[in-house]
Amino acid sequence: MRFDIISVLPELLESPLNHSIMQRAKNKGLLEVYLHNLRDYGLGRHKQVDDYQFGGGAGMVMKPEPLAACIENLKAGHTYDEIIYTSPDGVRLDQALCNRLSMNQNLLVICGHYKGVDERIREKYVTLEISIGDYVLSGGELAAAVLVDAVGRLIPGVLNDETSALFDSFQDDLLAPPVYTRPAEWEGMAVPEVLLSGNDKLIEEWRHEQSLERTRSRRPDLYERFVRG
Ligand code: SAH
Repeated sequence: MRFDIISVLPELLESPLNHSIMQRAKNKGLLEVYLHNLRDYGLGRHKQVDDYQFGGGAGMVMKPEPLAACIENLKAGHTYDEIIYTSPDGVRLDQALCNRLSMNQNLLVICGHYKGVDERIREKYVTLEISIGDYVLSGGELAAAVLVDAVGRLIPGVLNDETSALFDSFQDDLLAPPVYTRPAEWEGMAVPEVLLSGNDKLIEEWRHEQSLERTRSRRPDLYERFVRG
């Protein structure tokens, strides 16, 4: 799977995407991430990428021409399943959307800055707008990093134990059960007996009950959805 990411601050994306599971996915050839510096397509001597807002108001807007030039250049070499704009007014990213996106081959992600991008870019090119939550970031890079991480780890073969993503929170509308590691007793607190029993069936039942209880108490909205199927 390939991500192309357009940004005015590509450095912001380098560290999150070059460690741990993301790095492993790249090493295995399962994930490719290319960062494109929008400044390279900026206008004039100053490589301008933003401009004043028509109608007045504080904050700059990303100009359409550099973005269009960069997008067209990338589109000439690849067919994108989606051209994504990270934006607080997009659809909220959730596990179901990550699952869906993990089945794609080529995704182009545009990171906004300042007040965002000129609306005409959204009209002409963008096929999917994604928000990572109801708060405002100062740029789309962290949202893009979240997207690549959440989607990238779902590509088959990226996680060591291929089944483990299936048991994460949200995969079945339930939150994950509590987890424990050694020592079996710490600060007077013991690991639940059942987990030491070696009885797989009992352990599975216990985990499922814990998942249900956690979801019911912490996320009644998810629980409702789970119960309704
Ligand atoms: N004026 C805009 C916010 C601009 S913030 C508004 O109120 O909607 C600058 C950029 O950060 C945006 O263009 C977007 O790419 C990114 N961004 C900010 N919050 C985000 C969020 N919750 N999810 C995804 N991207 C976000």
